[in-house]
Amino acid sequence: MPHYQVVKGARDIFPDEILQWKHIEGVIHRLAALYGFNEIRTPVFEYTELFQRSIGSSTDIVGKEMFSFLPDPAGRSITLRPEMTAGVMRAALQKNLLAAAPVQKLYYISELFRKERPQAGRQRQFSQFGAELLGVSSPAAVAEVITFMMHVFEVLGLQGLTLRINTLGNMDDRKRYREALRNYLAPFYEQLDDASKERFEKNPLRILDSKNPEMQEIVTGAPKLHDYLGRESLDDFEKVLFYLSVRGIPFQIDHRLVRGLDYYSYTAFEVTSSALGAQDALGGGGRYDSLAVELGSSGEVPASGFAVGMERLLIAMQKQGLFSDLEAAAPSVFVIVQQQELFDQALEIVTRLRRAGISTVIDLAGRSMKAQLREANRMNAANALFVGSDELASGKCTMKDLRSSQQEECLLEEIIEKFRQSEPLNPPRS
Ligand code: AMP
Repeated sequence: MPHYQVVKGARDIFPDEILQWKHIEGVIHRLAALYGFNEIRTPVFEYTELFQRSIGSSTDIVGKEMFSFLPDPAGRSITLRPEMTAGVMRAALQKNLLAAAPVQKLYYISELFRKERPQAGRQRQFSQFGAELLGVSSPAAVAEVITFMMHVFEVLGLQGLTLRINTLGNMDDRKRYREALRNYLAPFYEQLDDASKERFEKNPLRILDSKNPEMQEIVTGAPKLHDYLGRESLDDFEKVLFYLSVRGIPFQIDHRLVRGLDYYSYTAFEVTSSALGAQDALGGGGRYDSLAVELGSSGEVPASGFAVGMERLLIAMQKQGLFSDLEAAAPSVFVIVQQQELFDQALEIVTRLRRAGISTVIDLAGRSMKAQLREANRMNAANALFVGSDELASGKCTMKDLRSSQQEECLLEEIIEKFRQSEPLNPPRS
């Protein structure tokens, strides 16, 4: 077997596709700035207990999907991050960010790792973009993160999205509901699958989330969380929905939506795309005021956020043909060396052009003029600059516009002047 195989569940991203990534990332960065979110980058690994405490030990992620290892025999176990929220909260608490400014709006585009069975739309290394709004947890704050996320989708041109939303109530509501759910499920206990049996004690709400059709059948008659919500939770939810409505964001209320992680309270939401197959969840999020306390903070840190899978975003956009206009940046000038003994002098010209901010390439393989021209066309270069002994002697160069085929002789300074004007070093983004 050759030794150049990518690890199962991971993938390479080649230059053609990088264009698509950069397009998406560009939109995310621009919109983040519009909404006042600041980028954060945290380490790819954290101490394992961070995820055990935050995501919750009854979840699939912590139960079986983490890549954990001991950095050295005496060290503490560390884990490649399977999600970002815990790391962002850890960083904010450790740095005491909220003391500097009571509201922190953070966003990220980061790689994550989960030991899942690889399939379409499910990898072992993947990326998410997401945002975390810390320090305030009003309905307006939750609506703000949802609006930011939906705005990104809108600018990217995605169609066929469904935003489903629910409220999980506060801790008191959930406690009363958990009891009611356990009472309902108790007579079915022997019929529960192993995962559900485990969840029965720790977190029976997650049984509602089970993909197993037999579990789904059992829970059809279960009491509804909605009936256990207090006035405060209901008012909060109404307000979130109101903010989404006034911003024209369509949503579906889905009382079955609980999301996989333990730390959510109040609003939870998920977005699916009709362009995706079985793995149709594009992203989701919610409010998680109790996470900071789980991590050992003395008080709650009101918080809400979302995470969106970048690969799935890409697949959905590719399926909808949303990348057709993207073009690789083509060089302005391809320097063609007429005799290879002039190569070093041609290189000097290349250097001068590049220093003037003009994108320039030259064939480094010493190929024939014909091959150089072919390469210039393949790269879609705008111009070919011919360097020969006559040109060097006269101090002039022959420049050919490869699109119009027009040719002119001019001094290098004139070329620099002309292109410097048409292609400044830092073009403003329109
Ligand atoms: P989660 O943190 O599990 O709610 O995931 C949020 C989003 O990340 C999902 O909706 C997917 O778009 C994406 N995602 C989660 N797990 C994977 C994975 N193994 N491979 C690719 N994308 C994933």
